[in-house]
Amino acid sequence: MLKISAEKINELFDKIASQQTLYIPVDRGDKCAEFKKYESGMTLSKALNTVRSAKDFFFPQTENLAEFRLSGKTIEVKDIRKESEDFVVFGVRACDAKSFEILDSVFLSEPVDSFYKNRREHGTIVTMACTRPEETCFCTTFGINPTVPGGDASVYFDGESYFFVPFTEKGKAFVASISDMLEDGDVTKLSEVQAKAREIMTRLPLANLTTDSFGGERLMEHFSSEKWAELSEACIGCGTCTFVCPTCQCYDIRDFDTGHGIKRFRCWDSCMYSDFTKMAHGNPRTSQLERFRQRFMHKLVYHPSNHEGEFGCVGCGRCLSKCPVSLNIVKVMKALEDK
Ligand code: SF4
Ligand code: SF4
Repeated sequence: MLKISAEKINELFDKIASQQTLYIPVDRGDKCAEFKKYESGMTLSKALNTVRSAKDFFFPQTENLAEFRLSGKTIEVKDIRKESEDFVVFGVRACDAKSFEILDSVFLSEPVDSFYKNRREHGTIVTMACTRPEETCFCTTFGINPTVPGGDASVYFDGESYFFVPFTEKGKAFVASISDMLEDGDVTKLSEVQAKAREIMTRLPLANLTTDSFGGERLMEHFSSEKWAELSEACIGCGTCTFVCPTCQCYDIRDFDTGHGIKRFRCWDSCMYSDFTKMAHGNPRTSQLERFRQRFMHKLVYHPSNHEGEFGCVGCGRCLSKCPVSLNIVKVMKALEDK
């Protein structure tokens, strides 16, 4: 297997960044990590995952969609779409890599979202296998193997070297572009590291959580559960869980008068907000209970119902660590599961 020693990883990043834009996870200084555009000398974070997921690269928090100019009764529409440049996102974890399949099933089905598609075509996802999963991780509940993270190419770290394995055409082109810096490496230690990671997964607090009680066929039963009232009682509707979630994909579209024309933009929205999907007659979900129920029903029931059993959660654990009142999908699953 092709590898590069850990001491040379920045030389490798310099080479990648000389060919195309590179993003890597770096420490923010508050014990959290975030993806940043690589600049020479930046240090790859050792954190398990970033606070915000890699979905931002393909579905950014805000973006302009079109511009309009009014002249009498004539409206001039300006198509402002631009071809994205090639870029690499390095260090994506297995859960976030899986989230792209979920986002693809939404944005790439008809009518195709051309903004998202353009970025997906130009972005190469280089995943990083997990070696030390944390207590909030439960990706295995959704059939994800964190030691085999997928993407266009994967990187495995054995403590001394980074090993590269390409999967897709983009991944093969990526590894070919850096092959002059890679050498053949012995994977004995890597196999031990992976075995240890798998063993850690079996001992995590959520290792036995299953999706057995969920899916499209349980729609009315779960929707009508009396447990939603107690489950949602503490929710303050802040939307944090939706903004950190790699699979949440709701957005709003608005027009802004710049004084020189109209800009149409979209921005992330949250089903937890009281003005979400507000129409002329008001909001169809008038209580926080209904909004809270919507988010979790979507992930555990509606999405699998509409996507051949695929759940809308990847078990990344972000909502477990970031909700200010300690609500999360695991609490919902445990409350609603068959005892
Ligand atoms: S619902 Fe929570 S655990 Fe599941 S993908 Fe979203 S943030 Fe991660
Ligand atoms: S579940 Fe938690 S993070 Fe999500 S909206 Fe409610 S209070 Fe905020």
